[in-house]
Amino acid sequence: MEKIRMTTPLVEIDGDEMTRVIWAMIKEELLEPFIDLKLDYFDLGLRERDRTRDQVTVEAAEAILKYGVGVKCATITPNQQRVEEYGLAEMYKSPNGTIRAILDGTVFREPILVKGIEPYVRTWKKPIIIARHAYGDVYKDTESLVPVGDTVYLTLTGGEDRQLEVFQFEGSAGIAECMFNTDKSISSFAHSCFNYALDQKQDLWFATKDTVSKIYDGRFKDIFAEIYEREYRERFEAAGIEYFYTLIDDAVARVIRSEGGFIWACKNYDGDVMSDMVATAFGSLAMMTSVLVSPGGQYEYEAAHGTVTRHYYRHQAGEETSTNSIATIFAWGGALKKRGELDHNERLVHFAEMLEKASIDTIESGIMTKDLALLSTLPDKKVVNTKEFIVAIRRTLEKLLEVR
Ligand code: NAP
Ligand code: MG
Repeated sequence: MEKIRMTTPLVEIDGDEMTRVIWAMIKEELLEPFIDLKLDYFDLGLRERDRTRDQVTVEAAEAILKYGVGVKCATITPNQQRVEEYGLAEMYKSPNGTIRAILDGTVFREPILVKGIEPYVRTWKKPIIIARHAYGDVYKDTESLVPVGDTVYLTLTGGEDRQLEVFQFEGSAGIAECMFNTDKSISSFAHSCFNYALDQKQDLWFATKDTVSKIYDGRFKDIFAEIYEREYRERFEAAGIEYFYTLIDDAVARVIRSEGGFIWACKNYDGDVMSDMVATAFGSLAMMTSVLVSPGGQYEYEAAHGTVTRHYYRHQAGEETSTNSIATIFAWGGALKKRGELDHNERLVHFAEMLEKASIDTIESGIMTKDLALLSTLPDKKVVNTKEFIVAIRRTLEKLLEVR
């Protein structure tokens, strides 16, 4: 087979530990034999971030802004222990946080479904994609213990000064918090959600508690509604999809009764909590992909899990590992498909689809990593190691590509 050619570079962002090991295997076994890869490479491995004082992270994000599509390996977010382990000059911020801030993007998390690993919720037949607004609210709040007898006010200064009384703490001490969001961030979130729904041709659900929080949550509801009416309604109708707003408690009940197959946009806290619940209910973090979508239409694909440190230490010690590479393979699949669509490169799109199909077919044939074997209800299972799993997917992929 003649190798597939690419016209525009894909931004490749390398990372750390076990996922870095898997990354190299995926390229060698599943990509390089089939594609004449055109990549703009950034090494976000912790040592290179340290050497460049994290400048490489900024450059990687800027490359995604320039070319439109990136694929990222999981990376270490340093804590004190990592500072010592790697002898870092600083405790660098989360690379994902830095990239998200530059792209002003929203993260969509999608489970990968395979036969034999059944969602805990029996009605769920299709993925539920969660979009989490990742700015403000309780994550950027100001809070305080309040002594008995104090009164808490919300004060606005600068223009027409105002003071709103929150509560008089008579008879009991207590607590208070103040949080905020901005129209700009909420609007970016809305655009990312509407664009991704059109991209995926799936309905978009959004829910808040605007009956109780009439101004704060009401603002989210209104901004979504305004942007939808002004810029997206016609395109949604043409695509045969729906934007649907409801109260958060109603949404939770409907999600459980649904069969899946939609995007659920969540405020920051709701998304934090619900994405872990939905991920667990679908089976495994190792089967969850994630894509960062900017309001300007740039995409960054990655696995939702981390660098799988425990497996890496075993790998370093020369022990065998059985690490699941599916989410990382799907990150490549998603990125190559998007690159192909933007470049009208049909062979690349087809390849990306076959890569994903080969991964699923391999698991459904009974060949899987240890984490999946523990969950799978298939009668005949063969547990393989990290490398064998990727090689098995390659065999399946070769057959799929020959059939064409
Ligand atoms: P993790 O890497 O997701 O791993 C937690 C555990 O989940 C693993 O020890 C493993 O369990 C299981 N697991 C996760 N992915 C798996 C896979 N592909 N195959 C098989 N098992 C898998 O989370 P963590 O240990 O909390 O974090 C490790 C590092 O990753 C940290 O330095 C953190 O900063 C970073 N991190 C990065 C990202 C990102 O770049 N997006 C996200 C999260 C965390 P068993 O050991 O029981 O087999
Ligand atoms: Mg969480």
